[in-house]
Amino acid sequence: MKKDYYEILGISKNAPQEEIKRAYRRKAKQHHPDMNPENKKESEEKFKELSEAYEILMDPRKKQLYDQYGHDGVSQAFRGGGFSWDDFHHFDDLQDILGSLFGDSPFENLFGFTRRPSRQRPKKGGDIHVILKVSLEDIVTRIKKKFKIDRYEACSDCNGKGGYDFMNCLQCGGTGQVRTQSRSFFGTFTSISTCPRCQGKGQVIKNPCVKCQGKGRIRKTRTIEIQIPQGIANGQYIVLRGEGHFGLGGKGSIIVQFEEKPHAYFERRGYDLYIRILMPYSKLIHGGVINIPGLNGKQQKVKIPKGSSAPEIIRARGKGMSRPDGGRGDLYVELDLKPLKAKDKSLHEILEKLKEYEGEPTPRKRGT
Ligand SMILES: [Zn+2]
Ligand SMILES: [Zn+2]
Repeated sequence: MKKDYYEILGISKNAPQEEIKRAYRRKAKQHHPDMNPENKKESEEKFKELSEAYEILMDPRKKQLYDQYGHDGVSQAFRGGGFSWDDFHHFDDLQDILGSLFGDSPFENLFGFTRRPSRQRPKKGGDIHVILKVSLEDIVTRIKKKFKIDRYEACSDCNGKGGYDFMNCLQCGGTGQVRTQSRSFFGTFTSISTCPRCQGKGQVIKNPCVKCQGKGRIRKTRTIEIQIPQGIANGQYIVLRGEGHFGLGGKGSIIVQFEEKPHAYFERRGYDLYIRILMPYSKLIHGGVINIPGLNGKQQKVKIPKGSSAPEIIRARGKGMSRPDGGRGDLYVELDLKPLKAKDKSLHEILEKLKEYEGEPTPRKRGT
């Protein structure tokens, strides 16, 4: 005597679909063969029974037949006279459940079942990666830069189609899929895979295009011009959509990654700039405004306070790099003593005089 489907799932006759789902989910986890390695055979049977009940009760038409005529009413629903995994329509639910049990364990491993591939969409063209070297000056002035790329473009003769006349693929009958039978853990499975002849397109070319030899695309060298984005930093990138390789499913992108060239005088830290200035001794003592050659070609004025020493760092607010938000970083001026080239005789006289004010060499406390 065959068990009642409602009993198997432990639900009442008028349980809504949500409840049927929940019950199946709970029991499928409980009886999954991999969760019961010590009585695998039994749980396999149990698991199959649950799935059969689920298959019937989730289908309103079959459920109605079952409610009216019992098991006899639905025996026609199974191709082989009885339920087999070929009759099961809810592999997606099952994958969900098993996924939560075993992480991402692929279905195929458990069932030898390959998920039905959807009719293959035409492939999108690939992306092109470019590394663009830029100087700090390039970034500050936001100049336009050119670079060359090699990309596939749609063949102009056949409009990217690869040919002129198309016919249904004979191997798959135009469906783009081929079926193969395979045996597995739970019985025989029909697995469906992409047709190797037409690559899932369902169609093959009758008259291939001469210009592109049926490929639909042609390699071209192009020059691309971009404007350097505001404040771009080493390793950052921009994406030029639709500028990559051509594919029937759309064009790829060009991904431009920026590589900052080291600067002879400036060091960049975020949006702040650091520069070392060799200060004449007199300027350190007297202070005053000094000119620093800016990255944009203009001189930047920085005020050095009276009585500065070396080494010392002066911060000039808002004189660093422009930020994308419109603000600016700071400029840090690291003061160093400019060595004197004392060859001249009069300079020696001055230095002799200076000695009177300088005193003896003194140890400097660390960190001052
Ligand atoms: Zn085919
Ligand atoms: Zn062509």
